Amino acid sequence: LKREVERSRRLASVGKLAAGVAHEIRNPLSSIKGFATYFSERYKDNPNDLNIAQIMIKEVDRLNLVVGQLLEFARPVSLSPKRVDLDPFVDNCVKLVSMRARERGITIATVFDDAPETAFFDPDKISQVLLNLFLNAIEATEPGGSIDLNVNRPVGSSTLVLTVTDTGCGISDENLAHIFDPYFTTKASGTGLGLAVSHNIVEAHGGEIRIKSIEGEGTAITLVIPTKAEQTDHDKKLLDSGC
Ligand code: ADP
Ligand code: MG
Repeated sequence: LKREVERSRRLASVGKLAAGVAHEIRNPLSSIKGFATYFSERYKDNPNDLNIAQIMIKEVDRLNLVVGQLLEFARPVSLSPKRVDLDPFVDNCVKLVSMRARERGITIATVFDDAPETAFFDPDKISQVLLNLFLNAIEATEPGGSIDLNVNRPVGSSTLVLTVTDTGCGISDENLAHIFDPYFTTKASGTGLGLAVSHNIVEAHGGEIRIKSIEGEGTAITLVIPTKAEQTDHDKKLLDSGC
């Protein structure tokens, strides 16, 4: 127990440090991006210089992404669970990536199988996980492919089960052992933090992530999230009393 306490204390201080560093990096980045944007406007008639300015903007965006994900990973997950209406929640998650999917000629379909109408979890955090799964699925899938999100609750259980299935490249057994490792990526410009962060978030909910993947055929990633099926009177009382 003592070691556990020590570990969580250390993680908390690493989180604080990362937050401080991220803050110090983000401010100058935003001014660099401002100046790069200024140059891209100023040189819009000179293709060479314009190209350089645009690369600067893209690289700054990438740094921002990496810093953001690092922060997300280093910070201990703190949950704000709520009762969530699943239909609009899922719609919203799909909307966040629908542009990207359409650009690549990939369709996303949602299937509700015996799903509850509401469930109790942290909607911001779980939508972040779904976003990561969708982006990975889009990146793995060729134009013309499809992605399914399946929402379901096994009979008699109070777990919410969300599965994202793609018809993409699949994951080799060798890589499968590493996909949750922070910084593990097979992409030229990946950060390798998406699944590491997702794992932390699902774990904080007391849930788990399961993966089925066949190389060359596709991947199915399942989130199993324990959740109370219905809000009980006891919950209501707690909520009403503001606890
Ligand atoms: P990143 O997307 O930045 O590479 P992630 O943590 O999101 O980092 O994913 C880690 C690795 O897992 C990816 O680089 C990829 O090799 C593999 N991966 C994750 N999801 C899929 C998927 N749906 N299909 C194929 N490979 C995947
Ligand atoms: Mg990713």
